[in-house]
Amino acid sequence: MPIRLLSTDFDGTLIGHHPDAHTVRSLSGALTGLRRQGAVWAVNTGRQLWFALEGLEQAALPHDPEFVLTSEKDIYRRIEEGSWEAFGDWNAQTERQTLELFDRAAQVFTAIEKMVATRDGIELLYENGRLAGLMTADPGTMDQVADAVRELAVAVPEFSFNRNHVWMRFAHRAIHKGSSLAELSRLTGIPRADVLAIGDHHNDIPMLDGSSAAMVACPANAVREVQELVRREGGYISPHPWGEGVADAIRHFSAVS
Ligand SMILES: [Mg+2]
Repeated sequence: MPIRLLSTDFDGTLIGHHPDAHTVRSLSGALTGLRRQGAVWAVNTGRQLWFALEGLEQAALPHDPEFVLTSEKDIYRRIEEGSWEAFGDWNAQTERQTLELFDRAAQVFTAIEKMVATRDGIELLYENGRLAGLMTADPGTMDQVADAVRELAVAVPEFSFNRNHVWMRFAHRAIHKGSSLAELSRLTGIPRADVLAIGDHHNDIPMLDGSSAAMVACPANAVREVQELVRREGGYISPHPWGEGVADAIRHFSAVS
């Protein structure tokens, strides 16, 4: 199977963390090669749109992706250099679904606010004027907070979150990197069999579980849970970190397809 749609996480996958937050040459070569074969590429990130675009610019990639999937939810299509538009009605639809859930989950938010007020090392985060997530002082605290939020939300089964390092964004259980990738696959008419997804952290798990991409991979720096999932799915764990690992995974699946 050829790779026709590539979905890559951004931070910790395409680029490393400071001082490795730049595009390596092997990655540029792999992305250019895929484009030449007619494949399209989506950066699938937890960053909000403006922050994702800022990151793309700073990373000095060989070209822009055709799509950016932002906030673990929204799908944007590049119309021309530097100009992006919502692709289909997915963004509006999922926004409605999110707001409807958040209204219903008011008591979960109250409980989370109460928890945050009584513990050190947690900060609430707001997007578009509403409580959207939280940030912890370190990854260990995030493990504890994730367990606590799961318990607080037990009465509202659709209430979930996407977590990445020390960040957590509250979300509808059905809205994550995997469902937005599946929608992009539907919108582009590129079947799951021809999709390669690559990511390194917890918020990448929904796009690496086989439901939206038949080919899955992670770089060497991926967290343990991601590596275990990719192994279970028969995917590829690169011995190389970040961009080097992405280039390696593209080579791997190009060779076996
Ligand atoms: Mg990442």
